Amino acid sequence: MLSVIDGIYFWRKYSLYQTLRRNEVNPFLEILFPECKIESINLKNETITISASRKVKAAVCPECKQLSGRVHSYYSRKPQDLPMLGLFVRLNLRVRRIRCQNQACSKQTFAERWGNWLKPYAQKTTRNKNTLYHIGQVAGGEGGHRLLSHLKMEASGTTLIRIIRSQPLRDVEKPRIIGVDDWAIKKGRTYGTIIVDLERQQPIELLPDRTAESLTGWLQAQPNIQIVTRDRSPEYAKGIQNGATNAEQVADRWHLLLNLYQMLDRYLRQSHKRLCKLPITTYPDQDSIIERRGSFIRTEQAMIASKKSRSRRRELHQDIQRRK
Ligand SMILES: [Zn+2]
Repeated sequence: MLSVIDGIYFWRKYSLYQTLRRNEVNPFLEILFPECKIESINLKNETITISASRKVKAAVCPECKQLSGRVHSYYSRKPQDLPMLGLFVRLNLRVRRIRCQNQACSKQTFAERWGNWLKPYAQKTTRNKNTLYHIGQVAGGEGGHRLLSHLKMEASGTTLIRIIRSQPLRDVEKPRIIGVDDWAIKKGRTYGTIIVDLERQQPIELLPDRTAESLTGWLQAQPNIQIVTRDRSPEYAKGIQNGATNAEQVADRWHLLLNLYQMLDRYLRQSHKRLCKLPITTYPDQDSIIERRGSFIRTEQAMIASKKSRSRRRELHQDIQRRK
């Protein structure tokens, strides 16, 4: 049963729809659909259907660019547009197939064009497709698909991915300073190579493996490379040497620090017993350091924590002994 709020909501939606149907609103709609005549607007099953036709009678042949107004036949296109008033919007366009009057033209007939807002053969308007592109970019394929039903739009996850992939790539400036490292396609099993433009701080390429040959092939197509930072992998060193002979190779800071940490860790583990035998050092001016235990000088707080821990272990041991 409908609540009062539901009733008000549907009444408002119906009122807006009725406003939309009035003739004086059509000029406004015709701004959204340039050079079109709005024939009718209908509401059914949460979908507004806007029927329209082209005002201009003549059309330019896409092949020979000559104007012709001789109609061959009609057919309809039903592309999806952006939602309106919380409702799906479907267009019902009456399309004329025009006969080309140029005897020398290879096209006998052609369909009239609707402008940039609706590309030939498109099942969605350009503005709808642009919105789907942004939704897909933020929410991904399946996530975007789930979101669309709430926005009164339709597209499968696959369609969203296809729209993203169909967009032309931005022109990227040729990189001069790059970083090369491996990245996990499947962690612990399959690795590729990631190449980052360090001046613009953007990844610019993913190679399917981390071999010298792949890197050499990519670098050979990039004559502007001057500096390459890398880890200490001999494979990458070889790839850079062969692919960008004149480029300077630099061990990157992150890997240098990692290697330093690993070496220090290994050294200290090996030297632990020897370090324990070093003579005691006293710090007479530091009151907080009151006692040295083992090879390390401990603070008062560390001593208290250690005593508590030892006391807990002793109690546990005595408890076990009692239960024997
Ligand atoms: Zn023609």
